[in-house]
Amino acid sequence: MARYTDSVCKLCRREGEKLFLKGERCYTPKCAFEKRAYAPGQHGRTAQTRQGRLSDYSRQLRAKQKARHVYGVLEKQFRRYFSVAIKKRGLTGLNLLQTLEMRLDNIVYRMGLAENRPQARQMVSHGHFIVNGRRTDIPSMLLEQGDVITVRPQSKENGLFKDLAERAEKKNCALWIERDLKTITGRVLRYPERGEIDGNLDEQLIVEYYSR
Ligand code: SF4
Repeated sequence: MARYTDSVCKLCRREGEKLFLKGERCYTPKCAFEKRAYAPGQHGRTAQTRQGRLSDYSRQLRAKQKARHVYGVLEKQFRRYFSVAIKKRGLTGLNLLQTLEMRLDNIVYRMGLAENRPQARQMVSHGHFIVNGRRTDIPSMLLEQGDVITVRPQSKENGLFKDLAERAEKKNCALWIERDLKTITGRVLRYPERGEIDGNLDEQLIVEYYSR
């Protein structure tokens, strides 16, 4: 399973804004973007000053890259999601974002069970979750309306999961997911509406990028 392994803070600095990929740390002065709010690399500071005069292509590319980084998806898979989105009825951009939101790791994160998406991804890939009664370790699994996610009984004894419900209680659960922290279970009620998808993403630019 291919994944991005370099520092995620570099991605924030590349995009010129905080993408909140590290949970708590993102809200502290330790945040790398707070300390160095310019692109990484030797020419990072110069590149940042050029941001104001980006070409249409660059803006489209950056919008696409930002969405990829927010959801932790590699290019090949992101393009596949776009192909899925374009075949669906309705607005392609919204379809794309909804498809990304339906990833299992994102849903674990939206349920408030993880600090950030990379952590949610790790929890899933270590096989701690059951979807519709079957154990899975595939973070990219796309869920549907009505699907039920729960923590594997054996995992509830695991260190990370022991006080999971108390920690999750302090976090909001997305309105399109029904969460029961007594059993640590979630049910997907519907697809999220556009206003429920944060991350300051511009799906129109992404559609333009792939429609060139
Ligand atoms: Fe981005 Fe969070 Fe790293 Fe700050 S701490 S640069 S917001 S991932």
